[in-house]
Amino acid sequence: MLVTVTHTETDGHWPASWSQARARALGRWLEYAARQLGLSDWTVLVDLSNPADDDTHASVLIHPAQRAAELFIHERFLTLTARQQRHTLVHELLHLHLNPIEHTSTAALTGTLADDLLEMHSRTLHHEIEWRADMLAAVLAPTVTLPGVSDGQVTAAGSPPASVRKASSLLAVDGR
Ligand SMILES: [Zn+2]
Repeated sequence: MLVTVTHTETDGHWPASWSQARARALGRWLEYAARQLGLSDWTVLVDLSNPADDDTHASVLIHPAQRAAELFIHERFLTLTARQQRHTLVHELLHLHLNPIEHTSTAALTGTLADDLLEMHSRTLHHEIEWRADMLAAVLAPTVTLPGVSDGQVTAAGSPPASVRKASSLLAVDGR
């Protein structure tokens, strides 16, 4: 996976909570986690100047035809525990596997259903996928090394490269 973590602030500074080192750590951890989750052929862009909405820690916009995604992260993400950060990012990455279902289904039904039925279908499918992304994240996140925790807590995925272990500790605010 190609992960680019950037910022587009015109004054050239990273958003308040995101140092360059922390941003680099996020990129490394995402590359590692995506590889563990079978997403090596995707490209992900994270623009930290363009955060997720205030009602969520992270969200993702997927372009399935390009196997590309834009990941939005709210700065409140940094106040989560390492486990919560991992769950959040694994959940968002799992959308890369799941959301093409939504795109394909909606594309196939467009023009065959009345607009309000299509809207209802899309909303129901979106809700179902959201729920499954969360269930799968609960199962799969523990197989990915926590950002910011030593290997002792890793269950199944093995050790990330030393650079990930070192850098990812920057993501953990509380060190747990
Ligand atoms: Zn979701």
